[in-house]
Amino acid sequence: MTRFEEHFRMRENDIVEYVKEKLDFFGPNELLRCEEIGDGNINYVFRVTSMDSTRSLIVKHADIADRSCGDPLAVDRNRIEANALIHQGVLSPGMVPKVYHFDPVMCCLVMEDLSDHKILRDELIDYRTFDNLGRDLAEFLVDTLLPSTDMIMDQLEKKRLVKEYINPELCEITERLVFTEPFLNGRGKNSLTALDEGFADRELYSDKSLHLEAAKLKMDFLTKAQSLIHGDLHTGSIFIKEGSVKVIDPEFAFFGPMGYDVGNIIANLFFPLIRATVDRSGDENKEIFIYWVQDTIREFIESFRLGFLLKLKVNAREPFAEDENVREWYLEEVLKDSTGIAGLELIRRTIGAAKVKDITTIKDEGERAMAERLCISLGKELILSRDRIMDSDSYFEAFKRAQSH
Ligand code: ADP
Ligand code: MG
Repeated sequence: MTRFEEHFRMRENDIVEYVKEKLDFFGPNELLRCEEIGDGNINYVFRVTSMDSTRSLIVKHADIADRSCGDPLAVDRNRIEANALIHQGVLSPGMVPKVYHFDPVMCCLVMEDLSDHKILRDELIDYRTFDNLGRDLAEFLVDTLLPSTDMIMDQLEKKRLVKEYINPELCEITERLVFTEPFLNGRGKNSLTALDEGFADRELYSDKSLHLEAAKLKMDFLTKAQSLIHGDLHTGSIFIKEGSVKVIDPEFAFFGPMGYDVGNIIANLFFPLIRATVDRSGDENKEIFIYWVQDTIREFIESFRLGFLLKLKVNAREPFAEDENVREWYLEEVLKDSTGIAGLELIRRTIGAAKVKDITTIKDEGERAMAERLCISLGKELILSRDRIMDSDSYFEAFKRAQSH
C-alpha cells in the first residue's frame, strides 16, 4: 500500500516522493527539487530537477476542480492529454514533449522538460521572429490531423478512437466560451477593456446575421467528428526556441472539425500582427516583425494547403479520394471552417472571459481600443465571408478592409 492509490491534490513534496516511487528516471539517492511552474488556469504543473545532475522532468497533475475557479472538472482530461501526446508524437516526431509516464489514479502525466523553450505568445509580444514557423506549424497539423480522418483511417479503427476521445466537459467549455457567450453574453462575463458596451451591443449582441453564422459553426463543432484535433492550439500552447517548435497541452483533444486547429493558429498569429499594427511607440523591431508575421501567416496557409493535398493524395484509402476534385473539395471545406473559426477566436479572445495578453497588455488606451476594434471587425468578416476567404491574400484583403472601417 502506498500513498498514491487514491487521488488527492499533490503538493511539491508529494510530487518528489511520487516521482521517486513510480519512475526510474532519477537515481535512488539523487537529491530532487520540485517547484510548481504552472501559469495556466486549469492544472498544476511541477518541474522536478536533480541537484546532482542536469536531469529534470515535468509532472502535470489534474485536480478534481478547475484551478482558477474551483468548479468541478473531469479529471479524465489528463488521460486525454497523455493519449493525445503519445498519438501526436508518433505522427509528428519531435513536435510534442515525450511522455514518460501516465497515472490514471493520481491523474498525472510525467513528461519531457521543455524549459529551454519559451512560450510563443510571449515571444511574439516582444516582436521576436523565428525562421520557418509557418511551415513547421502547417506540417504539424497536416501530419497529426489527416491520418485520423475517414479519408485515411480505417472506419472501425476511427470509431474506436472517437469513443476513446469523447471529451464532454472540456468541449462544453469551448462551446460556451468560443461559440455562444461572445454573441449572447448570457453569463454577463464579457468585457472590452478600451471600448464601451454600446460597441459590443451594436457589433455583436444585436447582429442576427452574425448569430446565424456562429450557430452554424457551433453545430459543426458539436457534430463534425472529422479528425482527432488538438482543440486548444493557441500560441500559449506552443513552445519555441531557434530551430525547434513543440506543441503542448492537448487536453481539449477530441474528434472535431480540423479547421478548429487551423483557424486557431491563424487568429493567434493575427493578434500580434494587430498589436504591432496599432503600436505608435516607435519600437525599432516593429516593422520587421510586421513583415515577418504576415509572411508567417502566408507561409502557414500555403504550406497547409500544399501539404494537405499531397498527404491526401499519397495516403487516402477512401476510393473517392482518387479523384482530384474530391481532394480539392475536402481541403476547401477545411479552409472555410478554418476561416470561420479564426473569426470566432479573434472575437472571443477580445471580448470573452479568456482574453489574450497580446491585446490586454497594450498600454495606451487609444491603441488598445483600436486593436479591439480591429479584432472584432476582422473576426466578423472572417465569419460572415468564410466561403470566400481560403487563401492568404483574401485574409490580408479582409484585414485591410477592417483597418479602413
Ligand atoms: P494548463 O493546461 O493548466 O493551462 P499548460 O499545459 O498550458 O497547463 O502548462 C502551463 C505552463 O507550464 C506552460 O505555460 C509552461 O510554462 C509550463 N509547462 C507545461 N508543460 C511543460 C513542459 N513539458 N516543459 C516545460 N514547461 C512546461
Ligand atoms: Mg490547458
